[in-house]
Amino acid sequence: MNEDTSPLPDAGENINCLSCGYNIVGLRLGERCPECGTQVMQFASQTTQSSGKAITSMVLGIVSIVTCMAYGIIGLPCGIIAVVFAKKARLAIQAGTAPVSSQGMATAGRVCGWIGIVLSSLMVAYLLFMILVFVGLLAAGATGAGP
Ligand SMILES: [Zn+2]
Repeated sequence: MNEDTSPLPDAGENINCLSCGYNIVGLRLGERCPECGTQVMQFASQTTQSSGKAITSMVLGIVSIVTCMAYGIIGLPCGIIAVVFAKKARLAIQAGTAPVSSQGMATAGRVCGWIGIVLSSLMVAYLLFMILVFVGLLAAGATGAGP
């Protein structure tokens, strides 16, 4: 027996399974949900805030893709933050302080973040290239237009 298991909060509260939403009042950490068999790793009330990292990661990842055409200025930092938050979310899930159900969002955030970083980087590179071409044309025009 694992002596570390602490009882779930008082039976007056409604504690729901993180996977199926079944009322699991009375279960202890490490026991399995009678409805879907998912092991109870944490209290739902503790995890509501912690999944914010995964949500933030996913939202920023999507934002970074959507805004990559805006010169990459918004998309690049958003994509980087999305990847960082995805890693934090994954570590939190491993540590048991974030719901396992947020794993999908964290993965989506990481993938979207990387796509945003790549697209935004290409956009920045393209802009730099266009500026160089423009400056080069100006320089060529200036030297070639002499009398
Ligand atoms: Zn369940």
